[in-house]
Amino acid sequence: MVLVLLAGDMNMNGGISSTAQTLVTIGGVPIEVHGSIVSSHLSFAPPAMEIATTSSSTQLVYINGIGVDRVGDQDTCGHPRNTSGQTFVNVNN
Ligand SMILES: [Zn+2]
Repeated sequence: MVLVLLAGDMNMNGGISSTAQTLVTIGGVPIEVHGSIVSSHLSFAPPAMEIATTSSSTQLVYINGIGVDRVGDQDTCGHPRNTSGQTFVNVNN
């Protein structure tokens, strides 16, 4: 069981995620899904036209057909997602 991520959660190097959806929330905060934009952060200085995004690896849980992000999923820059801002909702795989 792995915690589901929320908008505003950080990766291991401090990259903060936005979210690509606002339909489903936990405690009023949108759940983060595959393709959410990640802020600039340590060890990632994107050229002007490049951004990092989150990347979901779940095979089970989707919102509007898009996989939810979980703790440990790796962003496109290579940094894994860190701790979640919530501790109630987990995904098995
Ligand atoms: Zn990164």
